[in-house]
Amino acid sequence: MVTAEEIARVALFADLEPVERNWLSQVVADITLVPGEFAVHEGDERALFGVLEGRLEVLRLVDGVASVIGERKPGDIFGEMSIAFGMLHPGGFRAAEPTRVFRIDLRDYQALVAAAPEVAEQVGLMANNRLAGPKGLQARSSAPVQFRAIVLGRRRDASCAELRRFLDRNQVPFRWLQPDVPADAEQWSDALPDEDDLPAVRVVNGKTVVRPQLRRVAELLDIPTEPAAAEYDTVIVGAGPAGLAAALYGASEGLRTIAIEREAPGGQAGTSSRIENYLGFPSGVSGEALASRSLQQARRLGAEILVTRSITRIDAATRRVHLDGGDVLRARTIILACGVAWRHLEIEGFDRLAGKGIFYGAARSEAANTHGLDIHIIGAGNSAGQAAMFFSSHARSVTILYRGDTLEKSMSQYLVEQLGTRANISVLYRTEVVAAQGDASLETIDVRNAATGATTRLASAALFIFIGADAETGWLPPEIALDPKGYVLTGPDVRAAGRWHLDRDPYLLETSVPGIFACGDVRFSPVKRVAAAVGEGSMAIAFVHQYLRESA
Ligand SMILES: Cc1cc2nc3c(=O)[nH]c(=O)nc-3n(C[C@H](O)[C@H](O)[C@H](O)COP(=O)(O)OP(=O)(O)OC[C@H]3O[C@@H](n4cnc5c(N)ncnc54)[C@H](O)[C@@H]3O)c2cc1C
Repeated sequence: MVTAEEIARVALFADLEPVERNWLSQVVADITLVPGEFAVHEGDERALFGVLEGRLEVLRLVDGVASVIGERKPGDIFGEMSIAFGMLHPGGFRAAEPTRVFRIDLRDYQALVAAAPEVAEQVGLMANNRLAGPKGLQARSSAPVQFRAIVLGRRRDASCAELRRFLDRNQVPFRWLQPDVPADAEQWSDALPDEDDLPAVRVVNGKTVVRPQLRRVAELLDIPTEPAAAEYDTVIVGAGPAGLAAALYGASEGLRTIAIEREAPGGQAGTSSRIENYLGFPSGVSGEALASRSLQQARRLGAEILVTRSITRIDAATRRVHLDGGDVLRARTIILACGVAWRHLEIEGFDRLAGKGIFYGAARSEAANTHGLDIHIIGAGNSAGQAAMFFSSHARSVTILYRGDTLEKSMSQYLVEQLGTRANISVLYRTEVVAAQGDASLETIDVRNAATGATTRLASAALFIFIGADAETGWLPPEIALDPKGYVLTGPDVRAAGRWHLDRDPYLLETSVPGIFACGDVRFSPVKRVAAAVGEGSMAIAFVHQYLRESA
């Protein structure tokens, strides 16, 4: 327990009346930290802290990278910004050596300042100084961004778009230079690579690589691509919302957990411009933000998450998991969280122009390519509506091309209403795209009106396609039962299909192979939602525990 005398050693409380210090000593939490342990994380709830012994580092995430921006020593306080400005903690506080602090919860702080208003005044002054002082957050946030990489490539080069998207989705701050923009070419400060060698990426203070494989880029930037161990309690296939949730819960509950992702964390949700219906985000959240927060959280809680690696084979009998590149992992359990992949359209010109103006799904990183231009969207589901809203703040016009005659059948009413508020969004009903043209990139599309049969050629700088997705499960072993469309059967559906052979019932998310589970969009179920994927990912871990207990 913290004594009244110890509390008096913190300058802010030195002049309190003894009765108030005694009261504080009854209510504060006494926290002992080992080096590396956090007293509070960035984004945690409001509370005020006093330092009694040791030293803490102040950490702040800037563009996904944690940097030390200050320290606190005995006698100091921290948390004053959260208290004074009514915000979550803008930074994390980590013990740099064995450290002891006390925490005053918000309610107790409010009771204290009712009796001692001068404390609130001082906390307010200190918070203002932290924000606006010469070393304050304001000064820091106006400091130039620390780029970790420089990308050199053309706007309409599909490989360059893929590279930029990869860096964005892995939260790597980078600068993009275009070789045909003279000022950019100068900034490259080296001979420009040959046209055939673009795109190129230079790691700041490091190597330059031309036409890089994404895995090579990940390696150069120290993004994990190699498993650290040969055996895991659970191996998770995919790091979309379901896989990230499973990784987070698995690691935080003490399981040796690895999630393996063939692209970048976030899955489909990472490509969503705005998720409006995820609990706890009253004004919606972009898929990228949700993915990046979840990734940080899962890694902080100890999950190993590899990117740019695919799982290519699973041996059902031995539960060996094969990665591309030849690594083989031993898994006590496996969680399939591999989601679905966009359905592709077989239309003249589409394959050739994919990534060069034609995109399946969309990412915020494409926004720069649509500024002031006329673009089109195929589809009439919520994802198409969200994309139209997002791009309408960048493009000159956004036209939704839809075969049906009313959006209300397939799109939520709130989105239909939002679309109606944007003057530069329009819908062409009973219309389908029949061809796309362009040399280096998309220039025009041919659209046919089903009512008149007439075909019209429209100028189009970009075409984003949202026509649904399919489970890509052809690579799974035949022992794992699928529905006719390739979705993985679990729980009661496995039994109903006559594919279960143990005496006990399969767990709700268990596939026809005991110890292999499925969650999220890849699972046979009518619900395809972020919240469902996250819920199932966390539930899968509960079943992993049950399975491991039973097979111990
Ligand atoms: C544009 C868009 C907007 C959306 N908007 C909303 C919304 O507003 N609200 C909502 O609730 N839902 C929304 N959704 C649906 C939501 O994103 C999905 O339901 C959710 O992402 C499913 O999560 P998942 O983890 O099951 O699968 P996914 O998100 O599909 O993730 C699966 C991951 O597994 C990886 N993977 C696949 N196979 C392998 C393999 N063999 N090896 C390694 N990795 C592999 C993939 O690369 C992918 O990253 C939207 C979807 C899209 C596309």
